[in-house]
Amino acid sequence: MKDKKDIVQEYTRVWAEEAHRCSKCGKCRSFCPVFLETGDEKMGTRGRLSLAAALAANQVAPTKEFLRSISTCMRCLRCTRECPSQVNFDRLIRAVRGALGRRVWRYQAANLLVGALLENRWMMDAAVRCGAIAQRFLPKGSARWVRELPFFYRGSAVTPRFASQPALRTHGGYHRTQKSRMTVMLYTGCVINYLYPDIAQSVIDVLNRGGVDVIVSPRELCCGIPAISAGDHATAKRLARHNVHLVRKFNVDYVVCACSTCTHTFMKDYPELIGEDAAAFAKKAMDVSCFIRNVLGLTAARTDVTATYHDPCHMRFGMNVTKEPRELIAQASRFVEMPCADKCCGMAGAFGIINHAISKKIFERKAAAVRSSGAQVVATSCPSCMMQLRGQLHDRGIAVDVVHTVELFRRGMIEKQKREK
Ligand code: SF4
Ligand code: SF4
Repeated sequence: MKDKKDIVQEYTRVWAEEAHRCSKCGKCRSFCPVFLETGDEKMGTRGRLSLAAALAANQVAPTKEFLRSISTCMRCLRCTRECPSQVNFDRLIRAVRGALGRRVWRYQAANLLVGALLENRWMMDAAVRCGAIAQRFLPKGSARWVRELPFFYRGSAVTPRFASQPALRTHGGYHRTQKSRMTVMLYTGCVINYLYPDIAQSVIDVLNRGGVDVIVSPRELCCGIPAISAGDHATAKRLARHNVHLVRKFNVDYVVCACSTCTHTFMKDYPELIGEDAAAFAKKAMDVSCFIRNVLGLTAARTDVTATYHDPCHMRFGMNVTKEPRELIAQASRFVEMPCADKCCGMAGAFGIINHAISKKIFERKAAAVRSSGAQVVATSCPSCMMQLRGQLHDRGIAVDVVHTVELFRRGMIEKQKREK
């Protein structure tokens, strides 16, 4: 590691702007999901702030323990939203990780590899293809040893299968309708592209039925959230510029996303990363539920299922969107609100893989909530949350279907069109 002073200097400015607002009230101890499960002050918002302060004041070294404290923040944004003193903790954690990402060799090596994958679609496709081939040789079911292997999705009986063809290959192109109201770009995002291409298919179908032309560009690249979270801001900036320029070429009315994390990254992180260049793009970015409800005003008929909704953190705390997905679900099913719908599922991208034991503990509350709701279906607006819900519910023997909100709404739309014939 290079000089500690380098690290300190890089985030001292952000630290000075944000952290002095912390009154040490401790309210974050009642909602930080990682603190709630570990009970460890260093694993909570206030503890992380205190450690960052001590580092800035040269009172502690950036030890292994310090790095663990910083790396176990899920960036769920709950503290940034609910802190009574309005400490923008997310800004601070990004600054700290950004400084570490440029100075700690282990982070640099990981960022180099991940950055190369994120910026080169062919490389990512090839890596996923290798993963898909390897998956064919994995025993099906719940063999414990398979779950504990490194580099695979650890700890769940359900290893998500890579799609035989990525969504960008099968759905890339122009999907026109007869009476077009407008044209949008569907930004698929990596999880939908490689794991859940059916969600892309559902979005295209719903929007086409609603009279919207949809462009899916095989040239889209990752939104950059893995790079931002790992402190690799240089890669994140290049990805942001690529996606912004791509959208500009198509001159679409909206950029619609079915992944709340990608949408949040476009709306909130891109303007911070590349400034004015991203302003128009950020205004066009919209979550698919909001687009269907607020822009298109589409309706569906109630199907014969009882469904509940899990709030993805980036949707609820990052974008303050809670109403629209629930309204879509209530049209297409009998909607029941589950307790603690706003509680994090514990996935948070790579967090659920790297910190599997904590992630599993965080999910306990969600499992109990799903069970007590009596719902047959859990809908959500984030493919990573879907991955966690499917794996963890299956592990606990809870037989509940997990779908994307738009998939459930599509069923209701088809039902409505059938009844109208
Ligand atoms: S809730 Fe905000 S002000 Fe209170 S201890 Fe946590 S970060 Fe500090
Ligand atoms: S972002 Fe989430 S995990 Fe990180 S400190 Fe805040 S509440 Fe805790």
